[in-house]
Amino acid sequence: MSTNHELRLYNSLGRRMEDFVPAAEVAGLYSCGPTVYAYPHLGNMRAYVFADTLRRALRWKGIPVRHVVNITDVGHAVADTETGEDKLEVAAARERRSVLDIAAYYTDVFLVDNAALNILPADEYPRASAYVEQMIEFAKKLDKDGFTYQLPSGLYFDTSRDPHYGELALMSAEGQLEAARLEHVEGRRRKTDFALWRAEEPGKRRVLRWDSPWGWGAPGWHLECSVMSMALLGQHFDLHTGGVDHRELHHVNEIAQSQAFLGDGRPWVRYWLHGEFLQLGAEKMAKSAGGAPRLADLTEAGYHPMAYRLFLLGGHYRSQLDFTTAAIDAAQATLRRLVARVQPLRPLPSVETLAEALLISGAATQHDPAAQRLLDTIDAAVAADLSTPKIIAALQDALREPALTPDGQRAVVAAADALLGLGLATLEPADLEHHRALTDLSAAEKHAITELVADRTQARKERDWARADQIRAQLDELGVILTDTPEGPVWQLR
Ligand code: AMP
Ligand code: ZN
Repeated sequence: MSTNHELRLYNSLGRRMEDFVPAAEVAGLYSCGPTVYAYPHLGNMRAYVFADTLRRALRWKGIPVRHVVNITDVGHAVADTETGEDKLEVAAARERRSVLDIAAYYTDVFLVDNAALNILPADEYPRASAYVEQMIEFAKKLDKDGFTYQLPSGLYFDTSRDPHYGELALMSAEGQLEAARLEHVEGRRRKTDFALWRAEEPGKRRVLRWDSPWGWGAPGWHLECSVMSMALLGQHFDLHTGGVDHRELHHVNEIAQSQAFLGDGRPWVRYWLHGEFLQLGAEKMAKSAGGAPRLADLTEAGYHPMAYRLFLLGGHYRSQLDFTTAAIDAAQATLRRLVARVQPLRPLPSVETLAEALLISGAATQHDPAAQRLLDTIDAAVAADLSTPKIIAALQDALREPALTPDGQRAVVAAADALLGLGLATLEPADLEHHRALTDLSAAEKHAITELVADRTQARKERDWARADQIRAQLDELGVILTDTPEGPVWQLR
């Protein structure tokens, strides 16, 4: 049996599959994190479920990893431009809250969504605003080494100084120039040149502002990732992830400034992995456009977060996925079937690594070649650039396959779930009962139910138990599940 396949990942740098060999004992992994000025939408969360899949694959292969996810709370200008207002400051003005409040609130929402999706917590979540001094030092070095020029609007990185500029995007400097945004920046030498420091416009005082050798202002968007990743993972590290939109601009610029800063002729980061986008119909799901669905919209509509996770993992991370009601319905139904089949097998053994899976299946099922074969299939699938759809297929086979012993099934289910992170050891069928969404109700229906609930509360206050019971029966007929809590009655639809 050939179990223990070499982990191979698709490297955006060169656009090819490569064996993954970490440079040190602990692999360093940096994932570009959220800009915390609005709710993370389902597409954003795809980027972090993808990074989590990578983490689980590394753990499975026995490779310790240190994971950093940054929180962008300053520096990201509206529309990813070089000049103009910060996304956070615009949001603060819109919501009439302080920038700090906005950042703290949306950071919390992001972390809550991470937990709901069973995403392993990162080792560090550095905030950009806490690293501005280091960013200034970084830019000073680039300035001293002649990679920059100054304009009234700030300090710019001179991309003509980098003969390899744009390699990640698979574009020559000319190609990058054509693709570069059309924003006009007075005095900018090349359209690809980007801001390291964005100076305050005269008369327009920023809310978040720092003093620098280039005037009061704020760092450019790309700077934070270079500075914080080096600060927390060392100058060179192994893996860098993000959504595919980052491959053409943000990561190109991170690489240019980092390699100029290091100046050692080595690639800054060796493996760049990019997750494809989640589409909503034919539309790109964009946070700045607003209105894109978020995880809470799904849970309010009666879907379990793990149904969303299963839906995502049913596609390969490098394939575009289209979010539809039919697809999330199907995922919830599949998850319900999986849980129903897994339940009689509980408790599941605890499995995190391939070695553990082999040990358990070997000890418990020496004569279970079918289980061994499925473990091999799972290992081959994860090793071939994180092929989660194949892991799901192997999991389903394990639960259907009559040749497997219960212990063999347990080992395979636990192994698949260590990689998929669906929480199969603890999910309850009741968690997955599909409740009708409150949004399915008309305003009149909602009003009628609210009235009945209030009447019942009144009846109970008056100790008119018969009437209270009668109203409950009426609500029951309408499909309303009523629960009395210390804060009063709450209800949902069956
Ligand atoms: P942001 O908070 O806008 O900086 O984005 C956070 C992460 O979500 C980045 O890695 C983006 O590339 C990624 N992202 C944004 N929109 C989508 C989408 N529709 N599908 C998948 N990933 C996305
Ligand atoms: Zn980044």
